[in-house]
Amino acid sequence: MPTRFRLIVCAALALCASAPLVAQSPTAQVSQYRELAAQIIRAAQADSSAYDRLGRMVDGFGHRLSGSEALEHAIDWVLAEMKRDGLANARTEPVKVPHWIRGRESAELIAPRRTPLVMLGLGGSVGTPRAGITAPVLVVSSFEELERRKEDARGKIVLFDAPFVDYGVSVAYRRAGAVEAARAGAVASLIRSVTPYSIRSPHTGALRYDSTVTRIPAAALSVEDAMMLRRMQNRGDRIVLHLAMQAHTLPDAMSRNVMAEIVGRERPEEVVVLGGHMDSWDVGQGAMDDAGGVVAAWEAVRLIQRLGLRPRRTIRVVGWTNEENGLRGAMAYRDARGADLNRHVLAIESDAGVFAPRGFGFGGAPEALAVVREVGKLLAPIGADSVEDGGGEADIGPLMERGVHGMGLLTTPTRYFWYHHTQGDTIDKLDPADLAKCVAALAVMAYVVADLEEALPRAIPVAR
Ligand SMILES: [Zn+2]
Repeated sequence: MPTRFRLIVCAALALCASAPLVAQSPTAQVSQYRELAAQIIRAAQADSSAYDRLGRMVDGFGHRLSGSEALEHAIDWVLAEMKRDGLANARTEPVKVPHWIRGRESAELIAPRRTPLVMLGLGGSVGTPRAGITAPVLVVSSFEELERRKEDARGKIVLFDAPFVDYGVSVAYRRAGAVEAARAGAVASLIRSVTPYSIRSPHTGALRYDSTVTRIPAAALSVEDAMMLRRMQNRGDRIVLHLAMQAHTLPDAMSRNVMAEIVGRERPEEVVVLGGHMDSWDVGQGAMDDAGGVVAAWEAVRLIQRLGLRPRRTIRVVGWTNEENGLRGAMAYRDARGADLNRHVLAIESDAGVFAPRGFGFGGAPEALAVVREVGKLLAPIGADSVEDGGGEADIGPLMERGVHGMGLLTTPTRYFWYHHTQGDTIDKLDPADLAKCVAALAVMAYVVADLEEALPRAIPVAR
């Protein structure tokens, strides 16, 4: 560079340095955290406490359906442990939750041969009469096929044998199958379990009724059993099935959201919230859905605290209650914030299984996406540096609807839906090293966003 020109550049730089603070580029804002992020990642990977804690939670309390004692005992334990961790403002907030009881249930094939079938009632289903329902079966592969054959459905048990496409598409049969079957005059509704892989393991999950049609009992069969009934129908066999379910709903029960904080050193009223949901279905251990998410977020906050880091803004970890069959915890959290909702800088949830993290899916303003993408790059050493445009999770949905930026932790998706809502959702499927990486990813993202000199840009208007 010619000397004279160099002098001009130097003078301009000196002017800039003494000028009032102008908006820094996302890259410049974030680059100063590179060494700190590496330190957080190393600390998370050297620490086995997340997996130990997850084990104590799921082995100690088991699955945790809303309304169950196990859920409330697990919440008590998390609260006590958060206090022991020395986190600030550890507390619970009350939430009224639905209280559905599965009771005893069974499905038996009566014709063309007698054999028990492997099933799980769908969450929220009504039961059968005490003696059960014995009825012929009509197998359909789609809502369209049911529409074409609705004259055949009256008085029958309809089985939706819809092959798995992806969760978002295929879950429609679990949610709406009972309503569509009832509309066609069916006496009960069955689905092929919503999963890409099966070792004859049925998958439960929530259904939705519609007040305009009769509530009929609904259950999931294992993929293998559903496919067998389809083959029987294709061969022209007359299929008869006996379904007995004691499922019923009790009056709402009391539960709680549980939370704790690291209070921000400069702007404590501004909050980065992260968490998962405490409740689960009443099968397996709810280890990946979603005890793992709660523990990963909680351990991320504990790790930040243990490293002696105190960000500019407050970091709050929340274990939401009742995600699976009501989302009441998420709504109660939002409602309890009131006008402070617009001081939520970012909401992060882990609810996709704590497998190896890939990054985050971000829902919010493009200007903010540019910043969190830079933060994401700090996670390249553990392969979690992808920040996709679009994302979120159920419990942060009510916040995102009010204009809060939201992020879901993205993990390697291969196996999650193998175990989702089954007896197989247990901790042994999870790898301690993957969980430690999830902790690292959440800790780096939450800490850096909470500490940035300039808050994440907000482009979405906030409703008060
Ligand atoms: Zn979940």
